[in-house]
Amino acid sequence: MVKIGVSSLKTGFSDELEFDFQEKWSYLGTASAKLPVVAPVRVQGKVTNTGKSMLVEGKVVTALQLTCDRCLAAYKFPLKVYLQEEYVVNSDPAQAGSRDELEAENLRLYKGEIIDLQPAVEEALTIALPMKSLCHEDCRGLCPRCGQNFNEAQCQCETETVDPRLAVLGKLLSPKEGES
Ligand SMILES: [Zn+2]
Ligand SMILES: [Zn+2]
Repeated sequence: MVKIGVSSLKTGFSDELEFDFQEKWSYLGTASAKLPVVAPVRVQGKVTNTGKSMLVEGKVVTALQLTCDRCLAAYKFPLKVYLQEEYVVNSDPAQAGSRDELEAENLRLYKGEIIDLQPAVEEALTIALPMKSLCHEDCRGLCPRCGQNFNEAQCQCETETVDPRLAVLGKLLSPKEGES
């Protein structure tokens, strides 16, 4: 859990607090998958007491294991994302009752003396994921017939490309199998 104690900020002892921690995560859960996290998650930055809110600015560095959409190979995807989040304390009943307003202003809540950065870090990493996962920009993919990974070798399948219109014609002309 990525948590920061902000009691020193609240007492006015100092109005800025730096943090730098590193954690081991086993995976990042997204809406569609559990992606293995293959490097420590390092979260660095500072919290500033702005008077109205606690402003968190920082960066997250880690690496995930993704699966290539073309060749299905697992590959390491290094990530570096920036965080900028504003937290308001969850003690004001008026604020607690207006979650929509909080969301509209991009404010997050914290309780007591602790800011839990975990949800913000997870969201920032999830947003930074590529729409299409490719092991290399020019991944050559798999043979649709035998599954050979073209990045590693060619296969013995015929490589002729058949025009789909001709393929239909070919079907009509060739004798159908299994019919007598
Ligand atoms: Zn690939
Ligand atoms: Zn093949």
